[in-house]
Amino acid sequence: MTTALKKTTGIDMKLTNIGTIKELFARHGFSFTKSLGQNFLINPAVCPKIAELGLEGANEPSEVCALEIGTGVGVLTRELAKRYKKVVAVEIDTKLKPILEETLADFDNVEVVFADVMETDLAAVIAEKLGGAETAVCANLPYYITSPVIMRVLESRLPVRSMTVMVQKEAADRLCAAPGTRECGAISYAVRYYSTPELMFRVNRGSFMPSPNVDSAVIRMTVSPKNTLPEEREELLFRLIRAGFSQRRKQLVNPLSGELHRSKEELSALLGSLGIKPSARAEELALEDYIKIAESI
Ligand code: SAM
Repeated sequence: MTTALKKTTGIDMKLTNIGTIKELFARHGFSFTKSLGQNFLINPAVCPKIAELGLEGANEPSEVCALEIGTGVGVLTRELAKRYKKVVAVEIDTKLKPILEETLADFDNVEVVFADVMETDLAAVIAEKLGGAETAVCANLPYYITSPVIMRVLESRLPVRSMTVMVQKEAADRLCAAPGTRECGAISYAVRYYSTPELMFRVNRGSFMPSPNVDSAVIRMTVSPKNTLPEEREELLFRLIRAGFSQRRKQLVNPLSGELHRSKEELSALLGSLGIKPSARAEELALEDYIKIAESI
């Protein structure tokens, strides 16, 4: 899908050009902070695709807003600003401020909040800065907080339509893995509880500056209210899944009996009554099986 670009600039800033980035850095005295996962995108094909994916399926694309996490020099921010009604981006590194003032100067629909995304009340950001409009999360996530950020958005049931994010390839495989596959883990079930994940495309390590040691991939999680257990059941559900995967080679009744302080016989009978093989391992259960167990305890 190609969305009509709302904003056009005469000469587009080439923020994917290494020379342009180096010149910006030299002029503003900026240097990378490795611990913040600063690997900036220099492949010109990637950011427009991420921006477009967040709009796919929207009834009124011109009304959708974007929430970005981690601006870097604003390469994705600019692509979002061209297509979305308004963009709010949360960036932790205040050293990027003078650079962003320059690179985002020709957009009046972008606001950068300088804060740690893990400490930011994102629901308040969406309500106050985006007026509660339909919102898509789009980001090239800092790798050191990939799962915490994703789970924070999903678990807090932020009112967002989707999250389209770049993550390391292995993380992408795990987050999108279907139950029953070798890659799946507790987080694969959690992601599926709140959303429908899709692996969209791979991005090689040469697409970043500096280049990381591993390849990456863009995934999209389309958020839906399909599963809505009461809060205490939800907590129990994730406790059961985590317990199961903490001993994934063992039969599920073993870790579950430890977690729930019940005998293996009692749990075997319970699983049997729910149509689940008592000898099954954690990864052999569907999400619906875990939900049935959480509902019946
Ligand atoms: N979007 C840019 C791009 O694609 O080139 C930058 C992506 S870079 C992988 C991750 C960005 O997240 C960096 O700009 C980094 O400073 C920022 N960041 C790291 N930790 C953060 C945090 N806790 N809260 C907000 N931003 C963070």
